[in-house]
Amino acid sequence: MEKVKRNVLLNPGPATTTDSVKYAQIVPDICPREKEFGDIMREMKGDLVKVVHGDPDKYTAVMFCGSGTVNIDATISSLVPADGRILIVNNGAYSARGAEVCEYYGMEHINLKFDIEDVPDLAVIEDELKANPDVKVVYACHHETGTGILNPIREIGALAHKYGCTFIVDTTSTYAMIPIDIEKDNVDFLMASAQKGLMSMTGLSFVIGSKAILEESKGYPKRSYYCNLYTQYYFFESKGEMHFTPPVQTVYATRQAVKEYWEEGELAKWDRHQRVWQAIIDGLAELGFQDLVPHEKQSRLVVSVRYPNDPNWDFVKVHDYCYERGFTIYPGKVSDISTFRLCCLGAIDAPDVKDFFVVLKEALDHYGIKVTY
Ligand SMILES: *Cc1c(COP(=O)(O)O)cnc(C)c1O
Repeated sequence: MEKVKRNVLLNPGPATTTDSVKYAQIVPDICPREKEFGDIMREMKGDLVKVVHGDPDKYTAVMFCGSGTVNIDATISSLVPADGRILIVNNGAYSARGAEVCEYYGMEHINLKFDIEDVPDLAVIEDELKANPDVKVVYACHHETGTGILNPIREIGALAHKYGCTFIVDTTSTYAMIPIDIEKDNVDFLMASAQKGLMSMTGLSFVIGSKAILEESKGYPKRSYYCNLYTQYYFFESKGEMHFTPPVQTVYATRQAVKEYWEEGELAKWDRHQRVWQAIIDGLAELGFQDLVPHEKQSRLVVSVRYPNDPNWDFVKVHDYCYERGFTIYPGKVSDISTFRLCCLGAIDAPDVKDFFVVLKEALDHYGIKVTY
């Protein structure tokens, strides 16, 4: 197996992959309607549920061909009954996407906005649920990838359930990184994409959730043709294949990535991500950079870094300098503050981050940038 040039991706996904995952895509051509392929998909469905410790009698995985946003689209458009509303717990760009999906489908919803630099206030969520008994679904994002804030999903889920609501969580940037237990964390539906925590290729996204609620949703309004969760679930259950063409090669890559996930181990992998985070925090401190979010509120997967206050600072130039040397950094997603992001996803470890900071320091020196605030 020839080595592929290795790039260290510090962007929030797609992530750096192993060569064994890259090469797993090179397979004989196959029609995905063949039983051989269906068997691979069925096994993967089971593994995807197992990653979040779901009881296979109660939970299932529904797969889609698309990037992670297809899951947001599918869950929101499929899981709200005709006479119910959805409450969006909004403290950042990714939960805001949930509210946008509601707008696009013309769905009645409550867009409950919080400070994007903080976790949401549980008392405010409870007041809202108390005052609006027609809310039947609560939606939140586990890790706001734009800021790096980790939201208290177990507590939000407990509130959702106290008021009889289904709880949907966008776990795209935590799944297979931060340990999640779907039932203990009070989650009914969660979601992710193969190219993030699983360190596979883009194109395969999946929703993991309660079979009982999926069955219930059969009679809910079908607001999307391609993204209906029940239709996709039912088709696979009855026919053993996806309704429409699956991302065939990505499925092979993901099968290898899942194998490597079990080999590394849930806790060892989370330790590695935290090592990477610590190396980023240390490297930033050494160069005098300031990060945005207090460390105790960070997911330890994404660090938002403030732009230094120096006229020579130019993100694009610094990005290009690092990119040419194999390191990818990413712009921020905080509306009124200028930031860039360094992320801990992917098959990287602390020494890669140390190598990155050598290059970043070179870039600063090259352009005469002083890190001051
Ligand atoms: C990456 C990500 C998504 C999906 O983004 P796509 O560009 O559609 O893959 C959704 N939610 C969160 C929290 C993410 O980090």
